[in-house]
Amino acid sequence: MKIAVYPGSFDPVTNGHLDVIERAARLFDRVIIAVIKNPEKTPRFSFQERMAMLKDSVIHCDNVEIGNFDGLLVEYLRKKKARSIVRGLRAVSDFDYEFQMALTNRRLAPEIETVFLMTDYRYSYLSSSFVKQIARLGGDISGLVPKAVAKHLKKNLTR
Ligand code: ADP
Repeated sequence: MKIAVYPGSFDPVTNGHLDVIERAARLFDRVIIAVIKNPEKTPRFSFQERMAMLKDSVIHCDNVEIGNFDGLLVEYLRKKKARSIVRGLRAVSDFDYEFQMALTNRRLAPEIETVFLMTDYRYSYLSSSFVKQIARLGGDISGLVPKAVAKHLKKNLTR
């Protein structure tokens, strides 16, 4: 059984994340999306809200489940008996940080491999912060986030 963990803050999940999730679901037997409870950057949404939005967005993927963690990612993987970390790459600007994190995780847990998936070009500019900003200013976010997320953002962010 090939189990992968896709960690992130998902504040909120976007169609870019979803694209990576669907690709990972085709490569692995089981994909666990791991919501970071307390990311370095202060999230706009609580981890319960971030998890609920994800749950509504991946309802069509049978082998995908949602979890959360606080602490060392590699320990979470060991607990889940997972051997792969999935991360998404949008542009060269993601590379430095992702490379550093992958090597750090390898140092901590050599048995765990980080797998990078390229986003679809349609989402290569898309980020959670961008989406929040557009929603706050009353812009149209349909097409950028799953339907359930657009509804939640409109209710909670639009002024
Ligand atoms: P983190 O705070 O861990 O970076 P994010 O939720 O911002 O959490 O991102 C989680 C992962 O998803 C990262 O690997 C990030 O590069 C990737 N990602 C974010 N947006 C996109 C996108 N539009 N396309 C592909 N990957 C993305």
